[in-house]
Amino acid sequence: MTDVSPAPASADAPVAEGSTAPADAAPEAPASPSFDDIDLPAPLRRAVDELGFSTPSAIQAQAIPPLLEGRDVIGVAQTGTGKTAAFGLPLLAAIDPSVREVQALVLAPTRELAMQVADAIASFATSLGGLDVVALYGGSPYGPQERALSRGAQVVVGTPGRVMDHMRRANLRLDTIRVAVLDEADEMLRMGFAEDVEEILSHSPDSRQVALFSATMPAAIQRVAQTHMKDPVRVSVTPQSSTVKSVRQTYAVVPFRHRTGALARVLATSPAEAAIVFVRTRAAAEEVGTSLVARGLIAASISGDVPQKEREKIVERLRDGSLQVLVATDVAARGLDVERIGLVVNFDVPKEAESYVHRIGRTGRAGRSGEALTFIGPHERRALKNIERATKQTLAEATIPSPRDVSKHRLAALLTQVPERISRGRLELYRELIGEFVAENEIDPLDLVAALGAMSVGDDGPGSATEEEEFTAPSPRTEERSRDRGPREATPTEHGYTSYKVGVGHNHGARPPGIVGAITGEGGLHGKDIGKIQIFPHFSLVQIRGSLSAEQMERISRAQVGGRELRIGPDRGPRGGKGPRRDGERPFRRDDRPRRDERGGRYDAPRRGPRRGDA
Ligand code: AMP
Repeated sequence: MTDVSPAPASADAPVAEGSTAPADAAPEAPASPSFDDIDLPAPLRRAVDELGFSTPSAIQAQAIPPLLEGRDVIGVAQTGTGKTAAFGLPLLAAIDPSVREVQALVLAPTRELAMQVADAIASFATSLGGLDVVALYGGSPYGPQERALSRGAQVVVGTPGRVMDHMRRANLRLDTIRVAVLDEADEMLRMGFAEDVEEILSHSPDSRQVALFSATMPAAIQRVAQTHMKDPVRVSVTPQSSTVKSVRQTYAVVPFRHRTGALARVLATSPAEAAIVFVRTRAAAEEVGTSLVARGLIAASISGDVPQKEREKIVERLRDGSLQVLVATDVAARGLDVERIGLVVNFDVPKEAESYVHRIGRTGRAGRSGEALTFIGPHERRALKNIERATKQTLAEATIPSPRDVSKHRLAALLTQVPERISRGRLELYRELIGEFVAENEIDPLDLVAALGAMSVGDDGPGSATEEEEFTAPSPRTEERSRDRGPREATPTEHGYTSYKVGVGHNHGARPPGIVGAITGEGGLHGKDIGKIQIFPHFSLVQIRGSLSAEQMERISRAQVGGRELRIGPDRGPRGGKGPRRDGERPFRRDDRPRRDERGGRYDAPRRGPRRGDA
């Protein structure tokens, strides 16, 4: 992977302040980049302007609209994300300042937070004439708090303990409240306020709206939510990550059937030392991984059910440079921290913005820059827009490198090595042979060099298979279907394919990607030369376009899959074509399936450079 890359995002693309992930937020209430898109009452909008809030923070953009609609909201957000205004502004919008009774209650775990929140809400309420906010917390005299309550403060912000005290003293009744907010709910529960919170909420009318904000979402909070909230909208922001800043984000419209080819070309021309490709499912991880291996990339795939040890080994290889591409599901790549990853490709659009941010956060680490390219289908622009809105990023459209770009890229990489090779000398043999060849064939030397260049990058000329051609190695699903049907009689040639038998099967841990990788790598073949693969317990059958030379068979035979040599030879059918099936020649059955801990994350191409022409 060297120097051609997706078109860069514009340098001045805005940077996400956080990411938001509406779990069941209504689509019509997505993150918005402007307060103009939020329907705040005029006095509150004025307050926002006066406070100098030019754009809503991510949590505000997500939480304010549903709160204004009267919905209950669960917000996963930490301090510093602007969460106080996220609940404070809608809370004020729900209050009637002319009515002098308690209409809103905010519970906070500490005296400091209660004071801070009360101050913030008071600052939003400056244009709302007649609105009073009182803070109730322990460690200070009851008198002033009682007087503020009796004067008819509409907003109460307090710690659960002191709020309970005022209720017991009959200073505070909650039957008039319209909105209840639990701020830093996880902290309140951690500090032992669970019962108080329950008790306080049970004294408020059923009709009240509840907003719950918490940095984390432990089970205890979920229970509170289940008991006291009605069909809550969930919103969440992750703290601003410096990685997001250093990632150039682009997208490309690629129909699904062209994605593997496009991906291989992107990877073949990327300057990144290592890349991660994100897919949604384990099956997709295997399928895409297989295709990349067949196209000459050193790739492996992991999904959630890959055992931890295996995962660690793969991550280590990514780190030490012996693996170029990792195809992974979200779960498998969680927390992965490898500095060499310069490129993340989303093979499909992540469903949630949060997932998008986690994915792209795998690159641009440790002060390095990174690229993130997202493939979208022709009808998926809306999904892209959702991500753009939620992350407050604009993604620039990238151009997928063409096969010509790949050839240019490969030749350029080769040419840069020429001066050094010339200076090392011992070229007489080649000068002589080439001189003879030119003279004998009356060929223009530049044509000769051009042909050598084309051949060295795998360009077979017009009429040959191109990158657009569909890859013919079977997907795991096709393979499964063919296994179900059982092995056919040996078919020496069918549509130009010859059936070969290799001495590794399911019992040795063989899987299609490993077999394809070994055959293409050692036999000098292209992925497109490999047809159907059938895996049996003790051996496998592989269809190969044309036929293999003795030398190719010898080289492939020495390659290993699952620690066993491939020992390839023409398939002569059961008992060499003479009789019924041999032992171990029964087709793969369910019971033969490798044990769970043997599956996944297994394959990669032989350790050599990308094969020519296959990207
Ligand atoms: P909080 O997370 O609510 O404690 O807010 C953190 C800080 O961000 C406070 O100082 C707020 O005044 C400030 N803040 C909140 N929302 C915005 C916004 N939309 N624009 C700029 N600053 C904000």
